[in-house]
Amino acid sequence: MRFCSIASGSSGNCIYVGSENTHVLVDTGISGKKMEAGLNSLDLTGRDLDGILITHEHSDHIKGLGVISRKYGIPIYTTGGTVDAMARTNALGKIPDEIFHEIKEDESFEIGDLTVKPFSIPHDAAQPVGYRLECEGHSVGIATDLGKYNDYIIENLQNLDALLLEANHDIRMLQVGRYPYYLKQRILGERGHLSNENAGRLLCRLLHDNMKSIFLGHLSRENNYEELAYETVCSEVTLGDNPYKSKDFRIQVAKRDLISDVVTV
Ligand SMILES: [Zn+2]
Ligand SMILES: [Zn+2]
Repeated sequence: MRFCSIASGSSGNCIYVGSENTHVLVDTGISGKKMEAGLNSLDLTGRDLDGILITHEHSDHIKGLGVISRKYGIPIYTTGGTVDAMARTNALGKIPDEIFHEIKEDESFEIGDLTVKPFSIPHDAAQPVGYRLECEGHSVGIATDLGKYNDYIIENLQNLDALLLEANHDIRMLQVGRYPYYLKQRILGERGHLSNENAGRLLCRLLHDNMKSIFLGHLSRENNYEELAYETVCSEVTLGDNPYKSKDFRIQVAKRDLISDVVTV
């Protein structure tokens, strides 16, 4: 499997996961042009896509969905709650109903030779999910937009080869920053976003000898910066109650506007 972030951050998210034969995007929160450019750098085009997985209806995850699905008619996989929420806001413009495939938390399904398992995440959206994707005994996980983690999420992210994990904000930067009170409370809340510290603590519960690569993603533009997210997560790992040091793993920040390294597992 190949795994990379085409864009990641509160301004737009798009992740590629694929095997030799099957290619999917998780979220399409950037322009059609940027998605195409990302796919081209993987020697693919929109025409090669076998499916689009959507985590939830917030615009930083679906901004480009209308455009790319109208252009190629790619099947869209997401929960019923997310389909309804997108329809309510008419976020996508006109798309034929047939291209929607409603999925449910904890029910695995196949796209080509990929097995996809959605799991529910605590976030202030209609029916948000994270995804675990497997192929030939290897697996990658995507968990962004979660206000907190719990044993259920930890269980769904065990034994991964690679992971993209949200490290949204630094709590102090958020607290002293210029966001209005209600927005600060929303982000810090149990259905908000994962702080750098919590990302580090969650990661400690997921590390194992064969974990190859970790992307930190969905960084806030206002309340975080790359070095801080990286250093905070690394020190949680190194100082945490586990046998590892952060240097034992390849940990990197997925950039807002640049395609990341391509991880092969
Ligand atoms: Zn969201
Ligand atoms: Zn988001």
